[in-house]
Amino acid sequence: MEKIPSFSKNHDELKTGLHVCGTAHGVTTWDLRFKKPNAGDYISPAASHTIEHLIATLLRNSPRKDDIIYFGPMGCRTGFYLLTVNLGKSEVTELLKNCFELAENFDEVPGNKREECGNYLEHDLNGAKNECKKYLEILNYI
Ligand SMILES: [Zn+2]
Repeated sequence: MEKIPSFSKNHDELKTGLHVCGTAHGVTTWDLRFKKPNAGDYISPAASHTIEHLIATLLRNSPRKDDIIYFGPMGCRTGFYLLTVNLGKSEVTELLKNCFELAENFDEVPGNKREECGNYLEHDLNGAKNECKKYLEILNYI
């Protein structure tokens, strides 16, 4: 089998931040890297799941909601992927700063009822907010 592009980048050289993976069929894939790969610090599964609920909700309620294709966690738990159309890096950076700031305001996880989620008991709102705050600091240095 051919090695796919996401396995072809050297993860030892990947830094935290916001990176473009590429654009195909008009859709841009963004690498929201929360953690330095293979450095022993990972987002917990419960916090990662909650961040998905919080940030997906915020992105899909934002003024750019029509330009959001997908937001979801990386299996390695070092970050998230965001797929967009019509958005450049400065617009995505501003949009994400906004969303990660607003994440702090949730006092419950949106979509956390049994009928709304595939693993509704595995959530960690405080852990998610803590990771969102750390990633916001990373975004503020871009
Ligand atoms: Zn869920």
